[in-house]
Amino acid sequence: MHKVSRRKLLQNGAQAALAGGVALSAIPRLEASALGKSSVPVVNYYEKLGVTPFINAAGTYTTLSASTMPDEVQAAIALASRRPVNLNELLEASGAYLAQRLRCEAALVTSGAAGALVLGTAACVNLGNEQEILAIPTDMAGLKNEVVVQKAHRYDYDHALRNCGIRFVEVETLDEYEQAFTDRTVMAHFFNAGGGTITREDWIRVAHQHRVPCFNDAAADVPPISNLWNYTQMGFDLVTFSGGKGLRGPQCSGLLLGRKDLIDAAKKNNSPNSNTVGRGMKVAKEEIVGLVAAVDWFLSQDDVAMEAEFRQRAERIAKHVSNLPTVQTRIFIPEVANHVPHLLITYDQNRIKITGREVMQKMRAGKPRIELNPSTGGVPASAGLPSGPNTIVVGVWMLQPGQDVVVAKRLREVLEQAVA
Ligand SMILES: *Cc1c(COP(=O)(O)O)cnc(C)c1O
Repeated sequence: MHKVSRRKLLQNGAQAALAGGVALSAIPRLEASALGKSSVPVVNYYEKLGVTPFINAAGTYTTLSASTMPDEVQAAIALASRRPVNLNELLEASGAYLAQRLRCEAALVTSGAAGALVLGTAACVNLGNEQEILAIPTDMAGLKNEVVVQKAHRYDYDHALRNCGIRFVEVETLDEYEQAFTDRTVMAHFFNAGGGTITREDWIRVAHQHRVPCFNDAAADVPPISNLWNYTQMGFDLVTFSGGKGLRGPQCSGLLLGRKDLIDAAKKNNSPNSNTVGRGMKVAKEEIVGLVAAVDWFLSQDDVAMEAEFRQRAERIAKHVSNLPTVQTRIFIPEVANHVPHLLITYDQNRIKITGREVMQKMRAGKPRIELNPSTGGVPASAGLPSGPNTIVVGVWMLQPGQDVVVAKRLREVLEQAVA
């Protein structure tokens, strides 16, 4: 491998400086060093800080740092991180590119789906009141601020909307929904993986009869790839996806997709504008470029091939444990969120004397450290995932090549030790 020496880099820089400060000729060489050809030593900061990484047999859970970025995405970020740009120009250009690729009117890279929920809600408050309200959320006196939502769609991300000083109006039936609109309504909110009796189509139709925009939170809802345009094309005025889950972009990135006037209003409430509700949800050039690269990568994937690969991993793990006494295995695909094959392992606790929770602890304490899906042995970690004290859930989609076998062997070892 050809290494660019530090001295050579300095020489190139000096030559460029002598040539009148136009350092362009030196830039490609600096980029090469950003892509791993540098002789600068790389420090393993996890090691230095004493934080132990793990094999991710869980999935894209936020606390577990969600996903890892494909090489293409990491390389694009490394390159972008070397060059200053105007953030507004980059937000504009990336938004236009994403809107075209994702078949919607407009797009914005946000700090995450939660950040997109704040900015999209702020945009709806602005439009509903026909003015820019830079005082969101503290000076809302006399302003329209009602958001209609199904009771079953109240969730932990409510707080993102409440950051905009809104008040929720809950409905359960279609009839109640039709009656819920007042002259103070600014938005109708939908949780894509939530339950509830009102369909997406009815949700959109009724909101539009009242000229109220509707927002769909689909943060964890790719694959399938086509979901990236399904919901905007269905008529939702705003849709968000997390950048760091199935898309495998930077964890602190997200997509806000939808109507141009709303995206424009969202931008006004966003970083880098200082006096806004969104200023603390800054996205840097690295996240913006990283998310664009992740979308390019994700669109180059194939749903059928991805599912087949995940099934193979699940089957490989199942084969290692299925001949233990009373063990049953099954592959399960949740309907909406995390719509990928998961491996479910159940057993009779009279024969294998260990709870799912204990299995999870042992896997976590081993070398290498392994994290199982948080539904293991307890309550469902995401919509639709089965659970129970004698249920082990293995999320296989974030495993790296070869790790399925490591997980399988360790899982067998832990269960075998508990056979009565
Ligand atoms: C993960 C998630 C979010 C938050 O996404 P971030 O990108 O981490 O901000 C919001 N809504 C739902 C339904 C989610 O699953």
